[in-house]
Amino acid sequence: MIIISQQNYNSILQHAIDGLPNEACGLIAGMIEDDKKYIKKVYLLTNIDASNEHFSIDPKEQLSTVKDIRYNNLILLGNFHSHPETPSRPSEEDIRLAFDSKASYLILSLQDKEKPVLKAFLINELKQVKEEVIQIEE
Ligand SMILES: [Zn+2]
Repeated sequence: MIIISQQNYNSILQHAIDGLPNEACGLIAGMIEDDKKYIKKVYLLTNIDASNEHFSIDPKEQLSTVKDIRYNNLILLGNFHSHPETPSRPSEEDIRLAFDSKASYLILSLQDKEKPVLKAFLINELKQVKEEVIQIEE
């Protein structure tokens, strides 16, 4: 299970809206306790593809983010990106490019602008996709 605060959820949502019509992306960091992943910090990064169908995180931003995560004694939990026009599930490309079986892949769909949908997925070495429960807390 992944636990995210309302505030961090809101910043992901705002970043996704600001990034329209393109996909927005970023990294998530936090702590793991038993089977729970707590998102403590979200990093709103640049999609250098500037595309509405795929994303690449700016490598420079990725590097400084990883440093900041270490500095804060947190763990890199995974990443997030938005789907401006498609549902919240990994695309074929998302699955193809997923190389970390421990990472949580969060996808925020803005297909229905009134009703954003955030889901989280694990993608293993065999490219099997498993949804993780994600809970938004106050
Ligand atoms: Zn995607």
